[in-house]
Amino acid sequence: MNTGQRTMLGIAIGDTFGVGYEFYPGGRKEIKKAFDFSRYSNHPNPEWCTPGRYTDDTQMSIAIAELLISDNRFNHNNLADFFVGCYKRDPIKGYAGGFQKFLEVVGSGEEFLYGIKDDSIRNGAAMRAIPIGFVNDLKKVIDYAIINAELTHNTPEGKVSSVGIAVAAHYLMHTNKDIMSLSKQVQEHVAQIHPETANYLEKTYTMQSFDPETLFGEGNADVGVPCHGPKTLGAVMYILQHCYPSASEVLKQAVLLGGDTDSVAALAVGLTAIRQDLDILPHFLLDDLYNNEFGKEYLLDLGDALNQKFLS
Ligand SMILES: [Mg+2]
Repeated sequence: MNTGQRTMLGIAIGDTFGVGYEFYPGGRKEIKKAFDFSRYSNHPNPEWCTPGRYTDDTQMSIAIAELLISDNRFNHNNLADFFVGCYKRDPIKGYAGGFQKFLEVVGSGEEFLYGIKDDSIRNGAAMRAIPIGFVNDLKKVIDYAIINAELTHNTPEGKVSSVGIAVAAHYLMHTNKDIMSLSKQVQEHVAQIHPETANYLEKTYTMQSFDPETLFGEGNADVGVPCHGPKTLGAVMYILQHCYPSASEVLKQAVLLGGDTDSVAALAVGLTAIRQDLDILPHFLLDDLYNNEFGKEYLLDLGDALNQKFLS
């Protein structure tokens, strides 16, 4: 597998394993008891997901990857078109209810842009931002990450989390920076958009020992990572700093932190997979990953196309 293939598969594996534990009833304490590293677990709420199938995090990352390898410009209208198209051809579970209903009724990118409520501070822009990092020019990476956020999360929190993830992916793909120095660089980029998030990252980078209130925010200690852009970025950087380079440890930690486990695991494993083999993961993660028309083989082909366009 090449870098592109590992990255797309890493996103899907993290997402698909993580969603079985997303906002788990009883919180982090119950995840520890239920954690099973031998299969794709079903969520206590079976409506939530289908074991072995990825969710919105991967599908929207696919949309971004497809736009990047197409001849279309990376702009709001084209990106909205790709989001709508990817959902319509494969209407999967895992989207937030309101957004899924919206995707059902819009017929084009134009309708999407006209109807979308774009003021969210949640992590929906960050969760799909890794493929933007394939782009060779860092300035473009930042521009595209902002366009990505403006579509649905047109807030400082939405933009900063999208930029933070895309920049981290870019550094892992195009430089030799180690995790600590790329963490610092992410923080510097973040500071230019939203100083509050840079201060938050500083606190998480310098924690003497694990402090859930610092990492997840007040009131979230038992639940885990909230569905919030900057806190998701903070959790992903924390996992990389403590568990990298083992994809296996990264995935475990992403789930055990709790909260929005599918998005955090998609990002943390996707970023890790840029440079690291996925062979050390339990084999069911690859073997049992769903392989429909847009499943495992499709992700490998798409990753290969990204690799050819941007990394060779
Ligand atoms: Mg999801």
